[in-house]
Amino acid sequence: MTQLDHQDGLDSATDHEVDILVVGSGAGALTSALTAAIEGADVLVVEKASRYGGTSASSGGAVWIPNSEDARRKGFTDSPQDAHSYMSSLVGDTVPADRVQAYLDQAPRMLAYMEARTHVAYEACAYPDYCMDKPGAKTGGRTHDPSPIMADRLGTEFAKLEPPHPLVLTFGRFSWTLAEAKLMATMSPGAKPMLAKLIARYLADIGWRLRTRRSRRLTGGNALLARLKLSLDEQGVPIWLDTPMISLIRQGAEITGAKVFHGGKTVSVRARRGVFLGSGGFDHNLNLREKYLPAPTGRWSAGVVSNTGIALEAGEAVGAATDRLASAWRTPGFFLENEDRPRPLFMERSLPFSLVVNQAGKRFMNEAASYHDAGNLIYQANGPDAGTIPSWLIFDAKYRSRYMVGLMIPGAPVMDRFLPEAMRKILRKSTTLAGLAVEIDVPKQALLQTVDRFNRMAKTGRDLDFQRGESAYDRHFADLSVKPNPTLGPLEKGPFYAIPIYPCDLGTNGGLVTDAAGCVLDRQGQIIRGLYAFGNAASSVMGPSYPGAGATLGPAMTFGWIAAHHALGKWERRGRKRQVAAR
Ligand code: FAD
Repeated sequence: MTQLDHQDGLDSATDHEVDILVVGSGAGALTSALTAAIEGADVLVVEKASRYGGTSASSGGAVWIPNSEDARRKGFTDSPQDAHSYMSSLVGDTVPADRVQAYLDQAPRMLAYMEARTHVAYEACAYPDYCMDKPGAKTGGRTHDPSPIMADRLGTEFAKLEPPHPLVLTFGRFSWTLAEAKLMATMSPGAKPMLAKLIARYLADIGWRLRTRRSRRLTGGNALLARLKLSLDEQGVPIWLDTPMISLIRQGAEITGAKVFHGGKTVSVRARRGVFLGSGGFDHNLNLREKYLPAPTGRWSAGVVSNTGIALEAGEAVGAATDRLASAWRTPGFFLENEDRPRPLFMERSLPFSLVVNQAGKRFMNEAASYHDAGNLIYQANGPDAGTIPSWLIFDAKYRSRYMVGLMIPGAPVMDRFLPEAMRKILRKSTTLAGLAVEIDVPKQALLQTVDRFNRMAKTGRDLDFQRGESAYDRHFADLSVKPNPTLGPLEKGPFYAIPIYPCDLGTNGGLVTDAAGCVLDRQGQIIRGLYAFGNAASSVMGPSYPGAGATLGPAMTFGWIAAHHALGKWERRGRKRQVAAR
């Protein structure tokens, strides 16, 4: 105990003192902690859960960063002007221009810094932006996939890494790079040999399999968080697990630390240079969800269950402004019993021989749209005569035999009886479409008409109603062997199937208002000194949009990196250096 602090009139002893206290251990939090440590600060990370990594570790781990060095090296064409046009057309005036510009300017610098000074490693991919109709959109080079890494490099720390979301961990064993996931989802040529190679490598790794059923090779969010953790260990930065932040400590107008619950007692941590809130959104706080998000809602977030909105509550308690609280990174998803989070439907909707209908048996969207747009459309289209919650993903036997959905690996319909019980419980099936209409309780005539029109359009290759398959993104997860439109195929071959889908999310993305340096602002627009927020704890720099894969982790890491420089007084200096260089 070193000194007395003051929190809204209450005295409390300081038990621990550091330069920077980082709350949460997702990608933004650990990027900020690592950067601060590299820049010479004494850093402590506190994490509420028993494992580090948060939703970031469970995710695909991709970052959306225009104009990176790697993209340039690989020959993708982009320019700051194109990136600016694209972002501006999506974000409009919903986010201050200097914050958007800070992202576009600093994200490639953050990536270059992390790749040069830490174990973080990314590959720019041929992955299209999500809104290809907007000016400046690109068919590749902005989404970056984490380079795989072997789990044993983490030693005993691997056991404390948040595992991938069940969706990301096929058979509970393997995860994929983005390129591999595309091959698998679309069952393109090369998918089977690749799978055979992965399985052979896995089976041969007997020593590792005796320790865990999971593959030694980590990809996606697990690879990213493993890389961050390796570097943090080298910097000697501790992560206190099972240590929730309870509240912020304020002295006058400044945040000087936080109270955390650690080792069975409340500990006051003084942070000389700043408290960084990287503690996620209010994904699993049902009260906050019902208060702020569109109705209906429920436990519909695929984020980790420990994300319950502490940043929002603690920030509001010290006068922070908030914004966009009705907003989330949306995705259609479905629920399996015994899983604590929904399974997003990222890729399955754009495959042929399938469509989505509302409870009136009618299509209401371009099923191949990005998961964010599709999730939002489910809400927007929900009406008294045409409910969309749930909607139904409908597919035929051809789809079933070719592609993966949830726990269903491609297989003949006769194999359905061997499906895991959780999958069988949600799957509806009938030998005829009319029978399926009865199974899912939608008007028979309407469903038959919808499928008939869809089938006729599929044969011409043009979706006159929703333009499915017209953008490069629509066709990214499509089956190129299907012509003339690889996202459209008629549903002709029974049995027919349906899965109920809901407007789920990957995390909420409204929250504390921050400036271009990640500083939290109060309700008068003034900086609250000593307090920073990024990731889903802050109101997103992307406003209502989702420009491309990685648009949540890219900003989380970038603003975490900026915050570290700013809190250590190195941000203005970086700014000056840039101006000098520009002159
Ligand atoms: P998190 O990574 O969730 O970290 C927050 C941490 O704070 C958690 O560990 C939590 O336990 C901790 N915490 C909460 N409360 C407290 C407290 N009181 N005290 C201390 N700690 C606390 N986005 C992309 O950009 N690219 C992708 O490829 C991608 N793929 C995805 C795939 C899936 C299956 C899912 C579910 C999401 C995906 N997302 C992706 C979304 C992305 O993962 C999240 O938006 C992002 O991880 C949020 O980061 P964060 O740092 O804000 O929160």
